[in-house]
Amino acid sequence: KGALHMKFINEANITFPSNSSNESFARMSVAAFVSQLDPTVEELAEIKTMVSEAVTNCVVHAYENTIGLVRIRVQISDSRAVRITVKDTGKGIEDVETAKQPCFTTGSEDRAGMGFTIMESFSDKLRVKSAPGRGTSVIMEKKIIKRG
Ligand code: ATP
Ligand code: MG
Repeated sequence: KGALHMKFINEANITFPSNSSNESFARMSVAAFVSQLDPTVEELAEIKTMVSEAVTNCVVHAYENTIGLVRIRVQISDSRAVRITVKDTGKGIEDVETAKQPCFTTGSEDRAGMGFTIMESFSDKLRVKSAPGRGTSVIMEKKIIKRG
């Protein structure tokens, strides 16, 4: 999973408070923007799931019992790669490598600890940048295959 060639030709930015009711807005907005690349139903479903997992993490982990801003940037490159950045200014992650391990969770017992594993499996590339007390950025890249 090497780096994708990235010359961005279009982008959209969305900012909203971390109410769980905004999770579907985020997922649908990103899907609508990416639709200009004519993705398959499967590619679109994967992108929705990636966004859903990243935004849910902002809601339940970054801001916990408070409300803060979630910023999403979606960029499209000339080689049909999509880069989705989901950024919060919440509590941050102490150890990103540990947090990314399957089944690792600091959440309640209804959390499976599978969010990052799912994001990673649907992405060509996943990068997590975090600073405790400052916030987290999750950067996911996925190439949309040319059809027809
Ligand atoms: P699941 O996603 O399966 O419901 P989960 O959210 O605990 O469970 P991951 O999404 O893989 O699993 O996240 C792993 C851990 O990383 C979380 O339990 C939490 O400690 C930390 N984490 C993830 N995203 C953030 C974030 N935006 N801010 C702070 N901590 C986070
Ligand atoms: Mg999660």
